[in-house]
Amino acid sequence: MSGFFGSISQDDCVADVFYGTDYHSHLGTKRAGLAFYSKTKGFQRAIHSLEDGYFRNKFENDIAGFKGNMGIGVISDTEAQPILVTSHLGRFSVATVSKIANISELEERFMKMHRTFAETSQGSVNPTELVAMLIAEGKDFVSGIENVYNLVKGSCSILILTENGIIAARDRLGRTPIVIGKKDKAYAVSFETCAFPNLNYEIEKYLGPGEVISLTSSGYGQLRKPNEKMQICSFLWVYYGYPPSFYEGINVDECRYKCGAALAKNDTNEADFVAGIPDSGIGHAIGYSNEKKIPLKRPYAKYTPTWPRSFMPQNQAMRDLVAKMKLIPNKAIIKDKRGIFLDDSIVRGTQLKDNVRDLHEAGIREVHMRIACPPLTYPCEFLNFSRSRSNLDLATHKAVEQLEGKENMDLSEYSDSNNPKYHEMVEQIRKNLNLTSLKFQKLDDLVKAIGLPKDKLCTHCWDGSSYF
Ligand code: SF4
Repeated sequence: MSGFFGSISQDDCVADVFYGTDYHSHLGTKRAGLAFYSKTKGFQRAIHSLEDGYFRNKFENDIAGFKGNMGIGVISDTEAQPILVTSHLGRFSVATVSKIANISELEERFMKMHRTFAETSQGSVNPTELVAMLIAEGKDFVSGIENVYNLVKGSCSILILTENGIIAARDRLGRTPIVIGKKDKAYAVSFETCAFPNLNYEIEKYLGPGEVISLTSSGYGQLRKPNEKMQICSFLWVYYGYPPSFYEGINVDECRYKCGAALAKNDTNEADFVAGIPDSGIGHAIGYSNEKKIPLKRPYAKYTPTWPRSFMPQNQAMRDLVAKMKLIPNKAIIKDKRGIFLDDSIVRGTQLKDNVRDLHEAGIREVHMRIACPPLTYPCEFLNFSRSRSNLDLATHKAVEQLEGKENMDLSEYSDSNNPKYHEMVEQIRKNLNLTSLKFQKLDDLVKAIGLPKDKLCTHCWDGSSYF
């Protein structure tokens, strides 16, 4: 995914940007960067890899040397950023949360214009540099951002640090959020509102899709009105978002409780305990347990002292190993019991299969798995993910291939919960994972739990309904 944070203050803002950016560490694992501006020191910037360490450790030595009353920071799941450029719009720094699905086409467009790219990212051009070049084509920042909205397919939310303030531009369809926070003498702009409370910011405004705002230390103003259409990612509430965060005024954890409660209402299963697969299943499990009045227990303890993050290693086999090593099953809770387990989603199912095997080895009687969203049948074309989401990796595609004896890229019948093929697919996944029972959330119930109209949400993962 990636996430960003910025602050502009009447005083120095370096500490706020440092800690505010750190609160986005769950959104990316590859690169992080900070950029500040002060009248005396001009632009200052640092970028580090996160592949062998955490944001706080990597940047704590830089912090003492930074100075500025405005700055931006980014945790990136892909490219090195923020980018610092000099153009006819002045010198400015850019951070993005983006996926540019048509990046090759745009690269070619610039090549035809004999333009050069200075940065690379994973063997290709750096997407944030490309966005900076599109912005610099405008006669001003707003028309440059409009240029990005018109040309980029995928998604792109932008923070721009200029000599005169910060400009925040939310993705044209609002797939990712931007929220303004306010405190005495300072404003912040953030992907995650969980960055606000400990830095004493209050939520001031949720940017609409395509809305552009300029911020100074004394206030903010609208540079571009929001668009009507919105396709905010539903997965933010199901999995990606941090529990205390709000998007569109809707809290992540409360939404997860509602997801769990909806699953419980559709369930007649008896059990001795309810549990969440740590960490993303916990909120859903609390909601299920409260609705069903079955006690919430902790059959796994997460060993956090040396395994603090779930997807730090870049290679999938290593990530699976880390995921297994850090969850320790507790036989005292598990042995001879019937458990209902909640998880946010099933992507490949590999980790879940390991978890289920551990439960059986610890002597569990029944493993009932309840999933907070419908089966993932369509890969995401709009956001960048650490989690593998290619078609063939998906547990749904594997199950359909087993059922049909061949690859089937058209899963429309299988994604309709009223179609018998859906039930055959779920049964196949259940068998593959060695579960006593398996149920997925219905899409209508997920939409209800989030509480926005369906046409304002991207639900493409489950029904292939979204658009560029
Ligand atoms: S396809 Fe899925 S993950 Fe991607 S934006 Fe839509 S809901 Fe989010």
